[in-house]
Amino acid sequence: MPQIGTDLLERHERNPTTENRIGPPIDLSIPGVEELSSVDLRVQNPVLRLVADDLTEAEALGGQLANFAYDTEVVRWAGQVISTSGADALLVAMNAPDREEAVLASLHNAQVNLPLLVVSPRDDFRTRLWAVRAGAVAFWKAPTDVLALVTALDRQLRQDTAQPYRALLVDDDPAVLRFHGRILAKAGMLVETVERAEEVLASIDRFNPDLVIADLYMPGVNGVELAMIIRQQSEYDGIPIVFLSAETDHGRQQQALGIGADDFLQKPIAPAQLVSVVSARAERSRAVRRAMMTDGLTGLLGHKYIKAELELELARARRSKAPLSVVLIDIDHFKQVNDRYGHPMGDRVLRVLARLLKQRLRATDRVGRYGGEEFMMVLPETTAEAAKLVVDDLRQRFSRIAHKSEHGELRVSFSGGIAQADADTPILEVVRAADAALYTSKVGGRDRISLARERPIT
Ligand code: GH3
Ligand code: MG
Ligand code: MG
Repeated sequence: MPQIGTDLLERHERNPTTENRIGPPIDLSIPGVEELSSVDLRVQNPVLRLVADDLTEAEALGGQLANFAYDTEVVRWAGQVISTSGADALLVAMNAPDREEAVLASLHNAQVNLPLLVVSPRDDFRTRLWAVRAGAVAFWKAPTDVLALVTALDRQLRQDTAQPYRALLVDDDPAVLRFHGRILAKAGMLVETVERAEEVLASIDRFNPDLVIADLYMPGVNGVELAMIIRQQSEYDGIPIVFLSAETDHGRQQQALGIGADDFLQKPIAPAQLVSVVSARAERSRAVRRAMMTDGLTGLLGHKYIKAELELELARARRSKAPLSVVLIDIDHFKQVNDRYGHPMGDRVLRVLARLLKQRLRATDRVGRYGGEEFMMVLPETTAEAAKLVVDDLRQRFSRIAHKSEHGELRVSFSGGIAQADADTPILEVVRAADAALYTSKVGGRDRISLARERPIT
């Protein structure tokens, strides 16, 4: 095993908290929406400690990662123990194979507890084994693919803070409802309980549950009938229905499952089992809905769903008399990207842009793939002028990204059009106005953002 030195590293920079970062800290605030900016927009970038032997290369990589809202601290390895304090992830990207092995051995010895990624000059079994032993969660052979790195980092560090599962419990016995409700709530779920079967549809409408857990025998209606009533509403098609009953007769259980119920649980049920079945069903139901609504390539909402979101947000904006901006983005000369670098490269560029758009979102913003290389963003509580600052920043970030291909590096830009909806603007008008503004950007030379010249008349 290689010798590991313990000297403290001569860090590349002096001040570890500020000057080490590559790229300025990203201020995600939008002027004019202060109330929102204090809550949603000031996101702390995760810090990636990059262990390297070529500082120029490492800093270039850090610059690329900064576009995706990762701060990088470059550390030149000279045999020292690698400090992990203040870092959210480690990336080892050494050029010299023997030194790489030494770094990995040192991390192995130190039992580092951060996500570790390795970009290696070699791709042999021995190196991969060193990486695995050091605790690596991802491994690539150099040259680095920024999108792959960002995707792996996102997976480790940006798991969407999972929304709690929503469970609707139906039972005519209030004591049973309380008991099961408490078990699920303790497991972190949101629970709504309904004693009277007649109220189930209204409750589904209001509460939007991930699943329904129903008793099989209730006065006036049995669970099978209730399930059939729920299944008659096509918009509730995807919601799993789980029966929870003292029924022990196998035939009756089968009958209940036959009409479209998803599972049958026997009372009394152990709390842990209840939680595990309900979680699994709720997760499955979410995955199905997610797959239905999102575009496979980019993970963004598909055309139909981003338009539905726009419709919802427009209605909300009308009620609250708040501004709302619609942004249309179209990649410039995208056909040439495909023609010169191949369709897979085009797909990569689409994914990079999708990732960039997602990163800038507040919880209330929506983004979708509107067409092939066209994207739509819906920004509530945002004036067109405020939206322009955000989108223009995205535009600059995107155009700085170096997309690597076999035929060399390429840079791609996009154009954008923004329209603000006020009061009674019909949805078609807003989209048309954003599209006209996009067209203005295209004829004006591309790689720019335009506002709809006139606000649509109400
Ligand atoms: P402009 O600057 O005027 O927007 O020019 P453009 O080349 O971007 O526009 P055009 O509409 O002529 O071409 C769009 C291209 O986008 C054509 C189509 O093959 C490509 N495209 C659409 N969807 C996909 C996709 O999912 N993957 C890839 N790789 N290409 C796509
Ligand atoms: Mg009962
Ligand atoms: Mg285009």
